[in-house]
Amino acid sequence: MKFSEMTYTRLDADEVKKEIAGLTEALRSARTYEEARSLFLRKEEAEKHLTTQSTLAQIRHDIDTRDAFYDEECRYWNRVMPELEEYMQDWTRSMLESPFRGDFSSEFGDLMFVNAEIALKTFSPAIIPELQKENDLVLDYDKLIASAQIPFEDGVYTLSQLSPFKNDADDARRLAAWKAEGAWYKEHQDELDRIYDELVRLRDAMGRKLGYDGYTELGYYRMGRNCYTAADVERFRSVVREYLVPLAADIYKEQAKRLGKEYPMSFADNALTFRSGNARPKGTAEEILAHGQRFYSELSPETGEFFSVMRGGELMDVLSTEGKSGGGYCTALPDYNVPFIFANFNGTQGDVEVVTHEAGHSFAAWLNRSRVPMEYVWPSMEACEVHSMSMEFMAWPWAEGFFGNDTRKFLYSHLA
Ligand SMILES: [Zn+2]
Repeated sequence: MKFSEMTYTRLDADEVKKEIAGLTEALRSARTYEEARSLFLRKEEAEKHLTTQSTLAQIRHDIDTRDAFYDEECRYWNRVMPELEEYMQDWTRSMLESPFRGDFSSEFGDLMFVNAEIALKTFSPAIIPELQKENDLVLDYDKLIASAQIPFEDGVYTLSQLSPFKNDADDARRLAAWKAEGAWYKEHQDELDRIYDELVRLRDAMGRKLGYDGYTELGYYRMGRNCYTAADVERFRSVVREYLVPLAADIYKEQAKRLGKEYPMSFADNALTFRSGNARPKGTAEEILAHGQRFYSELSPETGEFFSVMRGGELMDVLSTEGKSGGGYCTALPDYNVPFIFANFNGTQGDVEVVTHEAGHSFAAWLNRSRVPMEYVWPSMEACEVHSMSMEFMAWPWAEGFFGNDTRKFLYSHLA
């Protein structure tokens, strides 16, 4: 099915609550593993449906943040999701307490119980108002960023559309683009400061309500970090400083020499890797996607099929258009067993990285489309980057088709 043909229906929150509460109650009194297992699978289906509808609203809102219908739907989900969380947590608790936990573990793996223990640490009904407000602030931020209309030279651009000028080879023009962007941020400073300030206070309050010193510990739990702690990250940062920062500094020093600039350079100069200009993909967005198809088809039958499904199902929205939310991501629509890629092509090297990086995430989701439980599709944000980064490098032998004469520039800057 094509993305445009997928039907969006707002789910009635009370119905969903009733359904989850009913399943939870039944799980508590299940007498056999077979019985418990079938309830578990029904809960999976309910969650798939919920995820699909709320994600459809989110994607369609991101594609055009000015669309009043999906704006209203996103506000609805912002309010409803934290309320549903209470029922989901009840379910989670009854899974953890289930006498069939061992049976579940041996069939579906113990990871879902490890994650369940963490999930319980992230919520109490007391923080529902904060969670709702947090969702709205995030939406406000996305809308503000998407609304940018920045005058530059003879045109008007969104933040994403302005990006190519920010690495233009002409020093004066590049600096002017950075300044035009900076002026927009400055102009919206009050609004950005308000959102940031409110988010910090809200998250700190959530942490305290749940009994932590502040937000940090809660933040780790919310990101589902199930195998390392803040102390590990601190150690990691110190080795980054010791080994990687000097290497990065050497790379920037080389760049300054190539550009004929003083080191350290301004951020406008940092953005230009080569005096003759950064690597640019050749061809239109459609040609980049067509070469992406060639890459995936030649790589393996599985990747070939995957990318055909993505293109044929309109599961990649990549053009940078007015009113579109910034950035890029990969998500999934579990009712349809397909992933979805959202991006903002703008004629830079980043466009190819959407086809490789985001599609790397997307391919992992595609291979796991029938995985039970559904949560295993995204094995924590950090582990997910293994899929995307490795796909970027698997694409190297096909780089020439993306970059033509700029291939060597691309390989250097990508590796750097
Ligand atoms: Zn990624």
